[in-house]
Amino acid sequence: MKLTAFEVREDEVKVFAMLASQYGIEIAYVQQLLSPENVDLAEGSAGVTVLGFSQVSREVLSQLKALGVSFLSTRTIGYNHIDLAAATELGIRVSNANYGPHGVADYTVMLMLMSLRKYKQALFRANVNDYSLNGLQGREMKDMTIGIVGTGKIGSKVIDNLSGFGSRILAYDTIVNEHVSRKAEYVSLDELYRQSDIISLHVPLFESTAQMINKESIAKMKDGVILVNCARGELMNITDLISAIEHEKIGALALDVFEKEEGIYHFDRRTDIIKNRDMAYIRQFPNVIMTQHIAFYTDTAVGDMVSFGVKSLVSFVQEGRAETEIFFRP
Ligand code: NAD
Repeated sequence: MKLTAFEVREDEVKVFAMLASQYGIEIAYVQQLLSPENVDLAEGSAGVTVLGFSQVSREVLSQLKALGVSFLSTRTIGYNHIDLAAATELGIRVSNANYGPHGVADYTVMLMLMSLRKYKQALFRANVNDYSLNGLQGREMKDMTIGIVGTGKIGSKVIDNLSGFGSRILAYDTIVNEHVSRKAEYVSLDELYRQSDIISLHVPLFESTAQMINKESIAKMKDGVILVNCARGELMNITDLISAIEHEKIGALALDVFEKEEGIYHFDRRTDIIKNRDMAYIRQFPNVIMTQHIAFYTDTAVGDMVSFGVKSLVSFVQEGRAETEIFFRP
């Protein structure tokens, strides 16, 4: 059996090679994103695996089907880059990855602390031997009310992590998680916005969640609120965020993800002209921390991502099913 892996990073190759030898399969590695221009490289493969930046459109899926490829895995948890409706119509079975939430949950708490303690400015100053305290006074986690939006795998782990700080924890989700309700108080979304000093997003990008942080929702929040987003950039309206920072409604913002980050994040673009004005403008504020979608990026998670990517294609072919198959829900 041959599989083709797109978007392969150097740090993934060791795990791919181990799995290829374990299953006795051949894996072709392609560094580039899967696109209509290079989909031909998948010819002769039983399945194809991608990461999250390949836009797996109807066009790409039709080309894959024409090449005889019926199985696709994404080595990410999120799958909004795949046209699932088209995959279902074309009879292409799709799976995602299911790595542990610890890496993203740890990172989320780090961003909360960095924002609360104004660490970006402290770090910048220390680098130029400026050791002044002016403007660096922080606040303590125990005094914070923290609102977690989305209490699935990552959101509930963030709540576990936060339990030792003595903060008051509020939660909002369309489904109540019993484990979470022992550590946090479920409230309505408006109530969470109204009462929280720190708000952290952990919902997937759906039509119902896209742009949920906008001028109306921000208006309901406390003055000086800290917003953390380790989920998806498109959950936030960037124009409204910029306006709220300029008017000092938002006290601090920490973003591991950004709208239209594809083609920028995870690449060395030092000598390129980057055409994302919002990204450049918002980054310069002293109270805005931006990282390049690395919350997931730990040794454990990468091992799990590659394993899920390969194992699900092998089980689609050999057993007709995969543990993490995802289905189109209109
Ligand atoms: P999950 O599916 O376990 O949890 C998502 C939760 O959101 C569920 O409990 C669901 O009920 C809730 N939800 C869905 N729609 C909602 C709505 N409209 N309002 C309120 N709650 C709603 O997912 P997860 O593993 O916790 O991951 C969450 C998101 O984090 C992913 O979808 C992905 O976009 C993002 N993520 C980011 C990184 C990173 O490196 N920054 C890594 C992994 C995942």
